This record gives sequence, C-alpha cells and structure tokens, in this order.
Amino acid sequence: MPLKKIFLMLLCTSVIGSCTQVQTGTDRKTEKKISRLISQMTLEEKIGQMTQISSSNMGENQQLEEGIKNGQVGSIINEVNPERVNAWQKIAVEESHLGIPLIIGRDVIHGFKTIFPIPLGMAATFNPAIVEQGARVAAREATAVGVRWTFSPMLDISRDPRWGRIAEGFGEDTYLTAVMGEAMVKGYQGTNPGSSESMAACVKHFAGYGAAEGGRDYNSTFIPERTLRNVYLPPFQKAVEAGALTLMTSFNDNDGVPSTGNTFLLRNVLRDEWNFTGLVVSDWSSITEMIAHGFAKDPVHAAQRALEAGVDMDMMSFAYIAHLSELVKKGEISEKLIDDAVRNILRVKFKLGLFENPYVDANLHKDVFYDPDHLELAKQTATESVVMLKNDGTLPLDENRIKTLLVTGPMADAAHDQLGTWIFDGEEHATITPLKAISDAYGQSIRILYEPALSHSRDNSPAGIRKAVQAARRTDAVLVFAGEESILSGEAHCLANPDLQEGQSRLIEALTAVGKPVITVIMAGRPLTIEKETIISNALLYAFHPGTMGGPALADLIFGHEVPSGKLPMTFPRASGQIPIYYNHNSTGRPFQGNETLLYDIPLKAGQTSLGNTSFYLDLGADPLFPFGYGLSYSTFAYTNIILDKVSYAKDEVIGLTFDLTNTGKYTATEIAQLYVCDKTGSVTRPVKELKFFERITLNPGESKSVNWTLPVKELAFWDLEMDLNVESGQFELWVAGDSVSGEPVLFEVH
Ligand code: BGC
Repeated sequence: MPLKKIFLMLLCTSVIGSCTQVQTGTDRKTEKKISRLISQMTLEEKIGQMTQISSSNMGENQQLEEGIKNGQVGSIINEVNPERVNAWQKIAVEESHLGIPLIIGRDVIHGFKTIFPIPLGMAATFNPAIVEQGARVAAREATAVGVRWTFSPMLDISRDPRWGRIAEGFGEDTYLTAVMGEAMVKGYQGTNPGSSESMAACVKHFAGYGAAEGGRDYNSTFIPERTLRNVYLPPFQKAVEAGALTLMTSFNDNDGVPSTGNTFLLRNVLRDEWNFTGLVVSDWSSITEMIAHGFAKDPVHAAQRALEAGVDMDMMSFAYIAHLSELVKKGEISEKLIDDAVRNILRVKFKLGLFENPYVDANLHKDVFYDPDHLELAKQTATESVVMLKNDGTLPLDENRIKTLLVTGPMADAAHDQLGTWIFDGEEHATITPLKAISDAYGQSIRILYEPALSHSRDNSPAGIRKAVQAARRTDAVLVFAGEESILSGEAHCLANPDLQEGQSRLIEALTAVGKPVITVIMAGRPLTIEKETIISNALLYAFHPGTMGGPALADLIFGHEVPSGKLPMTFPRASGQIPIYYNHNSTGRPFQGNETLLYDIPLKAGQTSLGNTSFYLDLGADPLFPFGYGLSYSTFAYTNIILDKVSYAKDEVIGLTFDLTNTGKYTATEIAQLYVCDKTGSVTRPVKELKFFERITLNPGESKSVNWTLPVKELAFWDLEMDLNVESGQFELWVAGDSVSGEPVLFEVH
C-alpha cells in the first residue's frame, strides 16, 4: 500500500488514539542554503518535511521506507534503535530527491537510560547547575542511539497537585521554572547544538496547559492575558532567549482558543515579540483534536487553522500530509505559509548539523549508557531533591546505635515505580532501591528486617500490615517507604483526591502505634495530602520519584552521610479542597488573620459576622500543610543583618543587598536562601510575595557568611493595567529567608 494511503488510514485512528536569535554570518549562509533547497522542493516534499510520524504506528518498515524515499516524512518520533535510525537516514540522505536528513525525536524527560528525579524533584534541588548537567547526561545517552530532539523541558506552571503532569514540570513558581527551563535547554543543546552529543530541546506545552480546570488533564483553561503574561509565559520566553530550538503547542483551549490554532500565542507573542526562529510542533494529534474541540469542522479545516496559526510540524495528526496540498491548490492557503514552516524546520536540521553528520555510531551507546559519572550525578541530584518535612530528632539514624531496623512499605523495593513517569527507556534492572542500598551499606552491622506490608501503593489488604507491625516490635526503628506507583502521575493520570492511598495510611498508623521511631519516606509524582501521616511520623522525607539512584541517595540521607537540603517547589495543601493553593496569590481585600473562628469552635447560633469576615475555610483556615520553599536540614540557619544599599531606587538601578547567614547547628549543611518581593501598590493587584532569586550556600557548623546579592530593579516589572511591561514606582517589601513564609520584611521604594 502506498504510504500516502497509510497516512490517510492512520488519520482516522490517530485522532482517537492517542531566541531571541540573532543572525550571524553562518546563519546567513544557512538561510541561503535553505532558500535554495525550498526552491527545488515540490509542494508535496515541503509538506513531507512538515510531517512527523511515529515509527511504532507505521506497521511495516517497508511502507515507512517508501515514504522517506518519496520525501513524505520530515521527522520520526519514538525510534531508539541506532541501526534503524541509520538505515532510515541513509534512505533520506541518499535516496530521496534532495537528500534532506530526518530528525529523530523522543520524550527524554528526566534522563534516557540513567533516570534522574522527576522534574518536580529536580526543581526541589533549587540547583540549576546540577539540572543542566543532568540534561547534558540525558543528551549524551539519547544521542548515542541517534535521538537528536527531545520533547522537554515542560515549563507548564501548575498550581494543582491533582493534575498528573505536575510531575513533569518545575512546580508553581514562574521564576524557579524559568531558571530550571533555561538550565535544561542549555544542558540538552550544549554550547554547540551541532555536536553529535547535543539534541534540540522542545519547550512545551505552549501555553497554559498546567491550569487545566479542576486539575483534569486536557481540560480547558481560563487564563486572562495579564496572568498569562505575568505567570505562565515568562519561562517560555526565557527558554527562547536561551536558544531553545523548538516549541510544542498544548492540548488545552484557553478561553475558547485551542493552542494549536492560537495565532496570538504562536505568531504575535512567539514570533513577533520574542523573535523565535525555531520550529513549532503540534502535540500528538492536537491538530485534528481541534475538531473535537469544535474549533475546526473537519481535518481540512483543522490543517488550515493550525498552519495559519503558526504550527510548522504536524505530530501524528496526518492532517498536513493529507490536506495542505489541496488547500494550496484551491488557493485557500498561500504556499508562502508552507515555505515559512519548512524554513523553520530546515533551520533546526542545519543547526543540529544533521546535513553534515546524519548518522550515529551504532556501537557508541554501549560505552555511554550508565557511565559511572552519569550514575554519580543522578545520585547527587536525587540527594539534593529530597525535602525533609519533619524531624523530631530521630534522623539521622546512628548506625552504631541501631541494632535492628525494619524496612517496610510498597515503595521500599519498587525499582520500576521509583523511576517515575515518562521513562520510556529507563530500566528496572539498573535501578537501586532503598532496600538494596540500605542492605548493601549497612547489612553487615545492622540486622535489617524487610516486610513489604503492601504489594503496591494501592494495595489495601490488612494481612501484610499485621506482619509489618509484628516485625516492628522487634526493631529499634522503622523505615516506611510509601507514596505512589509511577503510573499514578504523568499524562492523563489525575486524581480528585491526591491522598496517600488508604492501605498505606493505615500501615503508617499501625506502625506508629507500636511505639518505635517511625521514619516515613514518600516517593510520589505530586504533592500528596499527608497531614495525618506527617503528624504521626517521627520524621518525614519527601523524595518525589527519585530515579535510578534514589536508593543510595536516601540511604546516605537517612544515616547522615548527607544532609537534606531540598526545598518544596510547590505549596503542599492539607486537603484537596484547598486547591488551588499557592504562595504567590494576589493580595485580597480581606486577608486571613489567623484569629478567625474555625468549625468546631463556632458557638451555637453565633452571629453572622462574629467568626471573622476574611478569606478562609471554616474547616481548614487558610494555611497550607507546608509552604513553597520549605524544607528542613539536620542543621539550622539564622538570617541576620539584612541591609539594602539604598532606601529608594531609580528604575534603571540595581538593588544591592547584604545579609549574614549563619549555620547555627551541628552539621555542615547547605541552605537554599530565597529572596522574595512584594509590590505594595500597583495599577493592578499584585501578588503577596514573588520569588526573585535564590542561592544554595554551604556552611560548616558555626560558620557565618556575609552574602551579597544584587537585583536589577527591572526584575520588578509586570504587565500593568494598560497591558504593558513596566516597573511601577512605589513601596516594596523584601524578604530574605529559608522559605516563602518566614522572615521580616525590609522596605524600599522605587521612584
Ligand atoms: C504529550 C507530549 C509528548 C508527546 C509525544 C503527548 O501526548 O502531551 O508531552 O511530548 O505526546 O510523546
């Protein structure tokens, strides 16, 4: 069957299934080459470049080969066999009309073989340098099989732990997400995207996807332009400025306009305001999904709306290959739009050096996968990603005093599940679980009892819990590993109640009733509502899904060879009814005071206004379980002498700030010092606090350091009442603290 027919056939199923870049001399030469190529291409070949297909959806290879040869395929997604990659490239380069190479794409989200913590865990490190190195490792491993394009980083701000894809992003904060996104782009693309060890980053999902109503994936969003520009778009802009070569549209419609057909986003903002010169790819079948959205009447109309809006490449809708040609021939779209899209695609292929070097050394991966340096970096990242949320002094465990230790819980030895979501290429056999790491490191000196208690995170059977309780009676301490299987977070895996599943909650309750110290370790893809479990545990470590080396990282932290340093990249709600709850909410007219009357204290027949007329819940008040930026250490820190170099600044000035940070505890430890600002009065309501800077600072016990920071006043700009980006004059407050709720404000003015 000719490939075109297959495309048409797949069309029916796929709908259901499924920089500010300145031109250099080299760029000008490349543009000329691109123009020459475009002038030699037939319309069908151009549309072929705009088509990305999945190797696994193509049935027989022969049909795919025929398509490549006929110039009907620009990119292949999901091929990781280097021999096949080379064979297809050979056909593209040697047998197709103009010899244009393919670009091979894959979702390499938090590592390829060596799996790093999920992005939400990476965000908890507040360490962009280590995140950049991790992305470099992912690029080294993925390019070793010929993948030169990853669909990462995901820069969707989300304020909703119910949304399964919260795992894939960097949390709720615009600044933190922007910093981490830039680091990932630099890591993937390296200083030279043309190197065979670099791959193109794809920033996604543009835009607003993380605000899905009710935290239900693919749901509509309603983000007004000012909030879009102040909160959701800055990380994308930063990634474009960092040179991100590609960008993916999102599945959602915002205020009625699906992103894949959103001209305002894709042309006005991305191309005209940000000067993006890379390629825009749709999400998987998101072009034809505009029919289900009711935004296009059929695939022809969907293809037209996507192209007009600015989508260059069609991922798996087959709408471009099936319909663009007839649309041009009927005069309904101009061929110029097609030429522009092809130009963007070819530019990326040139930048990646694919024309000079389309092939991969098919044996290379054997030396690259799981390189000891990669594993070490994954361990360090996992160590830094763990957030200690409670410790009554039980941690760290003293290996000389513990004689018998119970390791229990469904996540203690769950090699697959600790890897987290989106690990197409991760492998269980290479993963070190906490049980293995603790047994290997301490099994000689400590008697380690292991009782899984529950076979997986949704297991509710009581028999195993009874066995674990019996074992707990014979031990000096209990380590319980709970959380979520990897399948419970990620795309389409949303939860109305992000609680710890019932059996695990009962397990922790039963274990704490024994009276031995209980250390709870949670591995999950999202913030879980764990108020009760936190209260009853002696200590609690939140490890997100920590990846391949999660076990050794946790073992080092638990026994004090490492000191916890991670901080929360998201506010942790006490209950799902509080969602959305986030630290940088706007100032309300009636903020919560803390002295309001809560549910059980309300006197019978209380007066209508006697409880406090502020913004709070009768049953939960207004505070979260843990605030953004929060995380404990085995040490403690004091912030003193916070001094600004002036009281009033002009808009083109830079704020100079000094403070003393002292390690007041007994361990050498790292603190993540955070800078927050509040603009007291604006032409529009402003957030109560916004993160503007942070730094990881390591100090010895008793050591004090005078820290100097600078903050350009232009960083205080926001989209104002007139929808212009401006710094407004007036009063500001500034905090330097270890989380988003601590510290005393320092005042300054902008004139
Ligand atoms: C996801 C994208 C992903 C793409 C390709 C889609 O379902 O939304 O994030 O990159 O699939 O696998």
